[in-house]
Amino acid sequence: MTASEPVPARRGFLLPSRHLARASRALPIQIKPAMSAPSRPPRNDSVGAQLSVAETLCAQRGRRLTPIRRKVLELLLRHGRSLKAYELLDAMRAVHPGAAPPTVYRALDFLMDEGLIHRLDAVNAWSACHDAGGAPHDLLVVCTGCGAVAEVSDPAMSRQLAERVAQTGYALATHETEIRALCPQCQKTQPADAGHHHHHH
Ligand SMILES: [Zn+2]
Ligand SMILES: [Zn+2]
Repeated sequence: MTASEPVPARRGFLLPSRHLARASRALPIQIKPAMSAPSRPPRNDSVGAQLSVAETLCAQRGRRLTPIRRKVLELLLRHGRSLKAYELLDAMRAVHPGAAPPTVYRALDFLMDEGLIHRLDAVNAWSACHDAGGAPHDLLVVCTGCGAVAEVSDPAMSRQLAERVAQTGYALATHETEIRALCPQCQKTQPADAGHHHHHH
């Protein structure tokens, strides 16, 4: 897809305004860094490339990727899977000993608004978006075993989902749908039909 192609029809359903803004702002550039397997940490040069994409996107929108915001994003990119709040805070404190939770949460809010990270309720964590310059990821396949995420863009499916939701009288509150799943690695150690064994005695 090139930047001159028409905007794909993905607005047939209600979206929170910040996501509409994000979708339209994200369209002019289509930078596609080499995709790495979602369950494996990406290589360093890939993290650098994705930080550059994030900086370009923010600059184009007149937003500032401050050092603290950049560091939070970098930690998530380097980690290669999702991080919970305390894991992120620990990682932040390793580089910025004085980092306080509100600072980290504000940085996360900013990064979410800019579509640079995803919030994952399924595992109560955040993950870096690995293609922030591309089409918005509306389907997030989240491994409940290890927190790995596969990001999918499927506007047609999301429209269908939104229509089914609308039939109930409800409106989707987010443009991202989470699917709880087990990644290939966790399927080996934790078969789906045995996923809830916690050694009951
Ligand atoms: Zn994403
Ligand atoms: Zn897993």
